[in-house]
Amino acid sequence: MPSVETRAIILRTYNLAEADKVVVCFTEASGMVRGVARGARRLKSRYGAGLEPWTLIRIAYFEKEGRELVSLKGVDIERSSFALATDAEASATLAYMSALVLEFMPPHEKNALMFRMMVACMEALVEEGVGKAAIASYFETWTLRLSGVLPDVSVCAQCHRQLTEGEAAKLGIDTQIRCTDCGRESDMKISAAVRKQIQLIQRVAPCTYAQTSGYEKTREELNALLKRLTHKALERLPRALETLQAR
Ligand SMILES: [Zn+2]
Repeated sequence: MPSVETRAIILRTYNLAEADKVVVCFTEASGMVRGVARGARRLKSRYGAGLEPWTLIRIAYFEKEGRELVSLKGVDIERSSFALATDAEASATLAYMSALVLEFMPPHEKNALMFRMMVACMEALVEEGVGKAAIASYFETWTLRLSGVLPDVSVCAQCHRQLTEGEAAKLGIDTQIRCTDCGRESDMKISAAVRKQIQLIQRVAPCTYAQTSGYEKTREELNALLKRLTHKALERLPRALETLQAR
């Protein structure tokens, strides 16, 4: 039985039998992992507060070939979820981020960049004066990029011309970006300002992004674009995302 040790973020847990819990977490070494924590519901459990949602932990577990559920050995808390869980807006943003991870990340597929991006976003959420909505948009943009569904906003997919900085573009129903000459009348209009936000998100850390002045002005349009891309990638908009995207 191979044993794995890695950093992980707890996304959610649910009860199993009398004393156990099923833990859904996103790990640095193997992506989405579901595991059983034996005895986790007992008053004096060896897991302590380590299984609270959004706790950053070091986790050890056993894997059995052909079994989706791993078996948890133990956890060490790296960062408690207390600061996040006690802030209503941060909690709502994290619920949104968790829903995206659950939808986009396949089980047992390593995506270390996605993991580190999520940790950085969680750190940004507890910083003073950081806009939570900007972090949500940042996270969604990166999730789309790391899932291979974020189009290149710097070039026209049809005539391959590099778009200039102040140029608006169009998003086709195939979710490709085109210049206004190549795009169709019915395509979604993407302003130069939104293209710039998408590029900025891919260049800077979440904390830096959330402190830029451009976000609020483009927020509505940027989120409409992200929603369109998420919907297209998942072929639906899950209810959890729909409610949260009404932000
Ligand atoms: Zn073109």
